[in-house]
Amino acid sequence: MSDKNIIIKCFECGKKNRVPDKRLEEKPICGHCKTLLDTKNIYGRPVVVSDRDFGEEVLGYSGAVLVDCWAPWCGPCKSIAPVLDELAYEFKGSIKITKLNVDENPLTASQYRVMSIPTLLFFKDGKLENTLVGALPKTEITKQIKSLI
Ligand SMILES: [Zn+2]
Repeated sequence: MSDKNIIIKCFECGKKNRVPDKRLEEKPICGHCKTLLDTKNIYGRPVVVSDRDFGEEVLGYSGAVLVDCWAPWCGPCKSIAPVLDELAYEFKGSIKITKLNVDENPLTASQYRVMSIPTLLFFKDGKLENTLVGALPKTEITKQIKSLI
């Protein structure tokens, strides 16, 4: 194993914690509020990411990450939001599911050429592996997740 550090944002207080890769299995806690850190999506809920922390939360994450690119005005985005909530729970511990509001985070959206939403970006160890466009059925998204983890 490497002695790389990863940054984990505490979902409780929002503080960022630097955790050595090799200590991830030891159930690290937040240095600020002592909440157990969500190292591998152990809580099973989507994490909000932004232009600012995309590098840390997605590209710097060792493992599988799904990025849901959405916007508040987009109807189909609303229809797949509950599906992603379910998937975050069903696949907790094996994939980190994140949400990127493209209106608030134009940099990342343009970097990955997100032209229409919803767009789902699938990363593995910081590398973009696949892109799905549109509000696809849950079975389709599940298939993609399974091929990634
Ligand atoms: Zn905390």
